[in-house]
Amino acid sequence: MKKYIKYAILIALAIIIVFVVTLTNRNKTTTEQDNGKFKIVTSFYPMYVIALNITDGANNIELTNMADMNTGCIHDYTLLASDMKKIEKADVLIQNGLGLENFISKILNNQKDLAIIDASENISDFIQEESGINPHIWTSITNYIKQVGNISKGLMEKNQENAEIYQRNTENYIETLTNLRKIYEVELNYLKGKAAVCLNESFEYLGKELELNLKSIHTSHEESALSAKELKDVIDWMKENKATMIIVDRNDDLKNAQTLAEQTGAKIYKLDSALTGSSSKDAYVSSIKENMEVLKRAE
Ligand SMILES: [Zn+2]
Repeated sequence: MKKYIKYAILIALAIIIVFVVTLTNRNKTTTEQDNGKFKIVTSFYPMYVIALNITDGANNIELTNMADMNTGCIHDYTLLASDMKKIEKADVLIQNGLGLENFISKILNNQKDLAIIDASENISDFIQEESGINPHIWTSITNYIKQVGNISKGLMEKNQENAEIYQRNTENYIETLTNLRKIYEVELNYLKGKAAVCLNESFEYLGKELELNLKSIHTSHEESALSAKELKDVIDWMKENKATMIIVDRNDDLKNAQTLAEQTGAKIYKLDSALTGSSSKDAYVSSIKENMEVLKRAE
């Protein structure tokens, strides 16, 4: 009997030791996750790509995108519990601004002291519409460059340890973007004044930058959302203005675009609104280059 008691005590001790060791390790992991690194959370994909460029090679930081990378536009987005979890740990949240993140007040109610970098700060040439400001500013390279500047300024202030790296990366990125804009302006100069219909509100800023005579229809990124009446109005406008271009997102349904094309003889141009893509630093630049190739086919 004594022998059994001895075994029982030994087993109990072994269990206690395993338990304590597991607990200690878990605590260590939690501490490692929460401490040390400067945690940057971006609201959605275009902001993530900018932050990826600015923070390249930075020390002791962690960059996370709040929404899933394939979410697309978040202008009607509902926060998930997993999003809140990411934001709870954040040292700074980078948002596009201009009302695109309509959930921001909910976040601030929860975390009053959360530092926010607003990428739309001081961007004044936004497009005002009946429903409010169109927040999809990044499709204009000029605006995008300003967004890069705003995010960089915010990160340099809030994470001074990496300020030099941020500054250098920003200069390089803005140089690339500025060169791209110059090429763009030369190659697409002939589009100025051309009448075009845009079935995706993301491209309204691009159309403005290219100085197109643009009729933009709000579809919440769903071109099929057009009513029969709206479709008729668009056809009338296209005929009146001799519109030859129909601009859609490459992921859009083409139902209405095809009807418009059949009715007017205009051609469909599928562009990339840079709302989804790879986790690569070059993602925005590649999408602009692709758009340029598509637009160069316009007659
Ligand atoms: Zn949107």
